[in-house]
Amino acid sequence: MSTLSRQSTLADKIGEMGVRLTKQRRFLIDLIESSQTHLHPSDILKLARQRGEKMDRTTVYRTLGMLKEMGLIEELDLLHLSGHEHYYELRDKNKRHIHLGCVKCGKILEFRSRLIEQLESEIRKETGYDVLSMRIEVAAICRKCRGENGDE
Ligand SMILES: [Zn+2]
Ligand SMILES: [Zn+2]
Repeated sequence: MSTLSRQSTLADKIGEMGVRLTKQRRFLIDLIESSQTHLHPSDILKLARQRGEKMDRTTVYRTLGMLKEMGLIEELDLLHLSGHEHYYELRDKNKRHIHLGCVKCGKILEFRSRLIEQLESEIRKETGYDVLSMRIEVAAICRKCRGENGDE
């Protein structure tokens, strides 16, 4: 029933997997999908309330757990630089970058490199394993915190 030309969204994938999409689930999924940053459950709750969506903590955690089990999102601790909550992002997106975290100011930078894909294909070639997710979190100190006045 879906048109082939349209890009498959997370909601489509979930539908194909036979999971019922309630209004709340749909809202949460759209939120993660359109987010430019890593979201943790409190962010999601706050955004939901701002947009007048009725959602409680349990629903948020349960839905995140479900999406994680389905292999659609990745759970990150981002070096626990800003507390104990975990962050979430799309697995497809997560696979293409590593996270650099400044241990002083807590700033997280997403770093992309062709080496990530190279590593993936090397793994496939040498072991026959297909990489589903790859989490590389690097503790670092940013230029600012090192006291250099760079042109960041
Ligand atoms: Zn990321
Ligand atoms: Zn820093």
